[in-house]
Amino acid sequence: RMSMEDYDYLFKIVLIGNAGVGKTCLVRRFTQGLFPPGQGATIGVDFMIKTVEIKGEKVKLQIWDTAGQERFRSITQSYYRSANALILTYDITCEDSFRCLPEWLREIEQYANNQVVTILVGNKIDLAEKREVLRQRAEDFAESQSMLYLETSAKESDNVEKLFLDLACELIREA
Ligand code: GDP
Ligand code: MG
Repeated sequence: RMSMEDYDYLFKIVLIGNAGVGKTCLVRRFTQGLFPPGQGATIGVDFMIKTVEIKGEKVKLQIWDTAGQERFRSITQSYYRSANALILTYDITCEDSFRCLPEWLREIEQYANNQVVTILVGNKIDLAEKREVLRQRAEDFAESQSMLYLETSAKESDNVEKLFLDLACELIREA
């Protein structure tokens, strides 16, 4: 290692998607192993840090949660600027959160840098009996927009680790 830093890679990851889809829960599950995150989903920090090791390399992830700023156009350009990856989240039990995805994609196109890696995440798969968005439909949509796709449960800790590790691997590959 040439660097004096304590990591080999540093990536900024930003979560976006409608309010209530589980962005904060995904971040807390990954960084703190907790569900539910506890009182007051919005705490006084803008981001959380977690360092993971991939093939012997230390990858520092700076994860930004768009708490309370989910409404379109209220997330400023500065939020997207310098993001290496975006986690675009919807709730598989909420058709409306899926139908809003094109609006989020327009924001990404407008504000994010064009190398950004975007992964579409369908959260709350523990609520399978309430599913409103079929997996195939979401997969097809993700593919049509050149996004990765994964389904998660922040509650059951299903695929949450994989989400961030897959993303880190993809970012290293593109670095
Ligand atoms: P955000 O607005 O996108 O940050 O959403 P939150 O993380 O605050 O979660 C919104 C609500 O969904 C809360 O009541 C969470 O407990 C719930 N929730 C989040 N993730 C899951 C999940 O994977 N499964 C279930 N059943 N509920 C979840
Ligand atoms: Mg939140």
